Amino acid sequence: MNAHVQGCAAGTEIATSTVRRESGQREVFCGLTGIVWLHRKIQDAFFLVVGSRTCAHLIQSAAGVMIFAEPRFATAIMEEKDLAGLTDANDELDRIVTQLIARRPDIRLLFLVGSCPSEVIKLDLSRAALRLSQKFSPAVRILNYSGSGIETTFTQGEDACLASLVPAVPPGGTGEDRLLIVGSLADVVEDQFLRMFEALGIGEVQFLPPRNSTALPAVGPNTKFLLAQPFLAETARALEDRGAKRLAAPFPLGVEGTTAWLCAAADAFGVDPVLFETVTHPYRARAERALMRYRGQLAGRRIFLFPDSQLEIPLARFLSRELSMQLVELGTPYLHREHLAEELKLLPAGVALTEGQDVDLQLDRCRSARPDLVVCGLGLANPLEAEGMTTKWSIELVFTPIQGYEQAADLAELFARPLVRRAKLVA
Ligand code: SF4
Repeated sequence: MNAHVQGCAAGTEIATSTVRRESGQREVFCGLTGIVWLHRKIQDAFFLVVGSRTCAHLIQSAAGVMIFAEPRFATAIMEEKDLAGLTDANDELDRIVTQLIARRPDIRLLFLVGSCPSEVIKLDLSRAALRLSQKFSPAVRILNYSGSGIETTFTQGEDACLASLVPAVPPGGTGEDRLLIVGSLADVVEDQFLRMFEALGIGEVQFLPPRNSTALPAVGPNTKFLLAQPFLAETARALEDRGAKRLAAPFPLGVEGTTAWLCAAADAFGVDPVLFETVTHPYRARAERALMRYRGQLAGRRIFLFPDSQLEIPLARFLSRELSMQLVELGTPYLHREHLAEELKLLPAGVALTEGQDVDLQLDRCRSARPDLVVCGLGLANPLEAEGMTTKWSIELVFTPIQGYEQAADLAELFARPLVRRAKLVA
């Protein structure tokens, strides 16, 4: 990163913390949850979960968090006789898919999404996807990935989904470098970034996932990609196997993260630092002014982040550096040291960082610390609220547009709101 580009993160603070690792009981949603935002992003895709009634309920309740859910997902429910091997689950699946495609001609991409039950009976969804693709190609492309797991976390569903798309993308050439943004972003955020890349003179920018499955980006040795989300390890590996190069950067949360993220692309594409400054300065100045209001409400407040969304590290960096919040404990389900390297440099020295979870031990630490605000999954929020603590649901951070300059203050507000609400209740 060019040190002379004003506004680029300097990255001089190195975290000296040691990471606590826990591997006890976890309190998380499984990867099926990702369907809730992915089905809205890829507008001609359908997600067919091959699972149980529990899986169907999970998706319905996760979708209930969103107001605009549309029926482009469903569960092919496996009954007891399927699980006992009394019917041929493959025949049944073929029948359901055939019916679905006949009824929904708008579907161009169908994901068969594996679950715990489909894995228990060893239903081979990759073979099913291949078989059904042969039947329905080229009208409908059929892919598969797994959303199952009690040892996973809910954002891994997006990683598995995007990784399953990589073999389907067309090959990139060896010509002029192209920028690829990886990770689903709200359309409004994507449009803002597109305008900014255009103003910086960075040619044609592509996105994975695309809004439409017929617009899959070409990927090859001339692809340079920026991760927009910190939970895409498998997808990044698949892209690198295709010859693409990852640009190291913090994630675009807050003013500083957004600037450094854009700066990584600007450096890689030889953008003049003066142009970078000219393009980004007005956005930065406006976002910093908007943040001021929340700094007053959040500075000095103590926050405890339970491991859940994998967004915790970039969020903690934003909250501590731009809003002066104090990090009591920072939990992350997994720590991908390489993808998070630029973030770790920016965390305050000595931060209590935990990887994995032993939920009871972590709850004990949280209770004894009595933080002002706890960021956690839905399962922990209610009991903690009942104990008088103020909480923020981490899943909301994935459903809300929070990336980029224009959303920096909205992101801060998500943390200020529960504190304001609690203050009103107490008053
Ligand atoms: S954890 Fe397994 S059984 Fe439960 S909803 Fe997720 S995939 Fe279905």
